[in-house]
Amino acid sequence: MKRRNFLTQTTLASVGLSVLPAIVNANETQELKKIRIAFVGVGERGIGHVELCTYREDVEIIAIADPDLERIAATQKLLKEKGRAEAKVYSNGNFDYENLLKIEKLDAVIISTPWRWHTPQAVSAMKAGVYTAVEVPACVTLNECWELVKTHEQTGTHLMFLENVCYRRDTIAVLNLIRQGILGEMVYAHCGYQHDLRGIKFNNGNNPANSVVEFGEKASSEAKWRTLEAVNRNGELYPTHGVGPVAKWFNVNTGNRFKYLTSTATKARGLHNYVVEKGGANHPNANVNFKLGDVITTVIQCENGENIVIMHDTNLPRPYSLGFRAQGTKGLWEDEGSRIFIEGTSPAHKWEEWKKYQLQYDHPVWKKFEKDAENAGHGGMDFFVIRAFLECVKAKIAPPIDVYDAAAWSAISELSERSIMEDGKPQEFPDFTKGKWKTNKPKFGLDDKY
Ligand code: NAD
Repeated sequence: MKRRNFLTQTTLASVGLSVLPAIVNANETQELKKIRIAFVGVGERGIGHVELCTYREDVEIIAIADPDLERIAATQKLLKEKGRAEAKVYSNGNFDYENLLKIEKLDAVIISTPWRWHTPQAVSAMKAGVYTAVEVPACVTLNECWELVKTHEQTGTHLMFLENVCYRRDTIAVLNLIRQGILGEMVYAHCGYQHDLRGIKFNNGNNPANSVVEFGEKASSEAKWRTLEAVNRNGELYPTHGVGPVAKWFNVNTGNRFKYLTSTATKARGLHNYVVEKGGANHPNANVNFKLGDVITTVIQCENGENIVIMHDTNLPRPYSLGFRAQGTKGLWEDEGSRIFIEGTSPAHKWEEWKKYQLQYDHPVWKKFEKDAENAGHGGMDFFVIRAFLECVKAKIAPPIDVYDAAAWSAISELSERSIMEDGKPQEFPDFTKGKWKTNKPKFGLDDKY
């Protein structure tokens, strides 16, 4: 699964054709015929969401906000290629999105900006009464988590958290399997974000020499802002790709909750070594003191007795893996090695290949829209998360991954930073639902609609 391989030029036409049937069949919800949408942030991620929306005839792309004129030009070019009208542009600095929200009449907005902008922009969008989708993580601090929740409760405006890995074909099939009791009572999960991001943290865009550049303004895309997070913070900075699917397996916020966590960090070597190896000892970043430990291990204790281990491992050479494991009283599934063991079904003490189970427990939403998702980003899951968002906007209903999920999953970052600062001391999770987790019913993955 290639993080940035959203759609290649060569597959654009075929995707257009294959996505179309979903548009034609999108008659599950009739409340809103056409969605007027805007995009805040049209970098690498945001433009992918724009493209997915161009394949839907029920979506009108109204406006885009991004201070980077190159990104605006790339987005307008894409819209033209797709036969769409130019979007209205808000590129006059970092706060022009406020004007967009004030001036345009919108049904929905998708926010794909650097992390520090997510909460302020989502709060403004909810206050403007626009159904909001926000990229991961939704918040950087605990205060921001509360701000999101409070704004949603005060305004009544919905927010969907765009955690696409919840829709990954295997993780959502495992949800199906868990709900059918095949793994017994759930006990443990392992997950993480294990992705060598060194090239992204020092991305020099179009420089063919591909030598390391200074992060910050001179760099491209996430190297402009994400690397700075590794200078200033030591903790689980990107928990939600791993913990999102697990939270759905374990009914977190719907009968269960995260209780407390502990985190530990290793020494930080990877980013410094990368700079020196690629740029030499005199490189301007060679003396930067990166605070972020190379491997962060977090353990969450859940109210109902389950444990979740989350790994954050982005600064060392390694193959990509989210390292999932779902374990219950009757067996376990692991994505590394793509294998499963079920007591009484699998040969004693032996793994079975996951493939046949994947077919058997494939989630209804994947069965229905598999063809439409072909070639969409991250193995198709980007299609599903955006589709779910748009369908909820049309139906004017609460999203399957909501503001309470956004808050509880994103809160892991600050809690983990605090735990590391206090030598691994446990940190209590706030209860963002204020007790409603006890009676809330699951909304995610119930059928082939959302
Ligand atoms: P990027 O740097 O390529 O794009 C960010 C864009 O936001 C840039 O074009 C930038 O100019 C713009 N921006 C900055 N400040 C702004 C502001 N105040 N108002 C409007 N626009 C502003 O980064 P990216 O890779 O596109 O990542 C964006 C977000 O998406 C991040 O939060 C990242 O974590 C997330 N992401 C998620 C996935 C996933 O699989 N779910 C994948 C990649 C990135």
